[in-house]
Amino acid sequence: MAALPWFIYMIVGVIVSAYSRIVMGKSNLYVMKLFFYLGIVFFGIGVYKLLLERMRGKSLAKNGKSRPADSSIVTCKVCGTRNYRTSFFCHICGAKVEKKALNRS
Ligand SMILES: [Zn+2]
Repeated sequence: MAALPWFIYMIVGVIVSAYSRIVMGKSNLYVMKLFFYLGIVFFGIGVYKLLLERMRGKSLAKNGKSRPADSSIVTCKVCGTRNYRTSFFCHICGAKVEKKALNRS
């Protein structure tokens, strides 16, 4: 349940409540009312998750931990293999990985 992103909850919530609304117009079933509220609850969870994510992102920016995804990859100057920034030597040819150029970004 926690693995799902916020927009999935919002989309599911909107679809479920909208669908139950359409069906409710034709037949006034109690189950459809239940589905409508379930959709609203799902949408609420989506909004809650979105807010949590935004807050987490802000706190990361304050700590200066946010960095572009590409900065974690270093290209080997000898063979051109993409290595992780944390590695000291190229995992293909064994050459020392240069990290100087990336610090400027
Ligand atoms: Zn290499």
